[in-house]
Amino acid sequence: MTIKAYGAHAGNLPLEPIDIARRAPGAHDVKIDIAYCGVCHSDLHQVRAEWAGTRYPCVPGHEIVGRVSAVGAHVSGHQVGDLVGVGCIVDSCQHCDDCEDGLENYCDHMIGTYNAPTPDAPGHTLGGYSQQIVVHERYVLRVRHPEAQLAAVAPLLCAGITTYSPLRHWRVGPGHTVGVVGIGGLGHMGIKLAHAMGAHVVAFTTSESKREAARALGAHEVVVSRNADEMAAHAKRLDFILNTVAAPHDLDAFFTLLKRDGTMTLVGAPASPHPSPTVFNLIMKRRSLAGSMIGGIPETQEMLDFCAEHGIVADIEMIRADQINAAYERMLQGDVKYRFVIDCASLAG
Ligand code: NAP
Ligand code: ZN
Repeated sequence: MTIKAYGAHAGNLPLEPIDIARRAPGAHDVKIDIAYCGVCHSDLHQVRAEWAGTRYPCVPGHEIVGRVSAVGAHVSGHQVGDLVGVGCIVDSCQHCDDCEDGLENYCDHMIGTYNAPTPDAPGHTLGGYSQQIVVHERYVLRVRHPEAQLAAVAPLLCAGITTYSPLRHWRVGPGHTVGVVGIGGLGHMGIKLAHAMGAHVVAFTTSESKREAARALGAHEVVVSRNADEMAAHAKRLDFILNTVAAPHDLDAFFTLLKRDGTMTLVGAPASPHPSPTVFNLIMKRRSLAGSMIGGIPETQEMLDFCAEHGIVADIEMIRADQINAAYERMLQGDVKYRFVIDCASLAG
């Protein structure tokens, strides 16, 4: 079956309409008519070959929501007509310790929603900037939000879980002061989720224009990180920092804001390394530097249910597929509050 998609044929070329094929659903597969797909900064890193190993044609998109249009004979958890989501993972080995623990995101054989090897044509996975997708039922999430919110649910499938998982792992909650660095797609979800978990949230932004907006998202305090005096006022105050910044920057400026035993977890994945942290900023207060990658399937379902229960969705700006190249430029300027979402109906032309 041939469907319409948007993708690129090389890292230095813009995205353009392309026709792609999807496999016929197998016994455990779910076929989804994609309604909306969020635009993650990872899509830009990958399609422009800023990370190693991009396969072309590259069709990005791993914040997928839509409706089930067919199910295989052995699918038990999803039915035609259900509202569902697909995030960054469409397959894994299903047997290793990580998969057994529901941490498919750390499986050595995790298959990403785009740019991962697959027997299907063209030999690598193609993502959600497309009309339909066929996915093994294990990796299909249930959406319990009202249908009217569906477009704003899409970014939860990556930005939501990537921030929820470390906030849970490092047990953020009442009594904690939490910094969220970089108020983009991930960061704005980090603020909303940390707030809902009961923490005192301090947002760090390089953009003066986001000062008031970050408060509206649920930040109790906002710091413009380019202002050294404002930064110094928060020294040794934070229990945990979630750093979502998509570019190399000075990590030391943030370590000094952590209390004794505090942790800064990096989720941002810049194309080139951060300047190395100063060891003394870590050893003097037994501070930790950590990383975290998306989240497993059970935790992604838990996050979606948590968001449905607390009325949490992303703040989005809807675009047509043919606006994607301009949207990437605006994302690089930090000019989106806070996530672009493609209306996949626009792919029909
Ligand atoms: P985004 O919407 O572009 O947001 C990134 C934010 O970082 C910007 O809004 C900006 O916030 C800040 N920023 C950008 N350039 C900066 C610079 N040069 N110096 C300081 N701050 C800067 O991107 P996103 O979609 O949230 O993704 C963020 C990063 O996370 C990307 O690298 C992406 O690939 C990565 N990611 C990782 C995972 C994972 O599993 N670990 C999952 C998804 C995405 P302010 O304007 O507030 O400063
Ligand atoms: Zn993503």
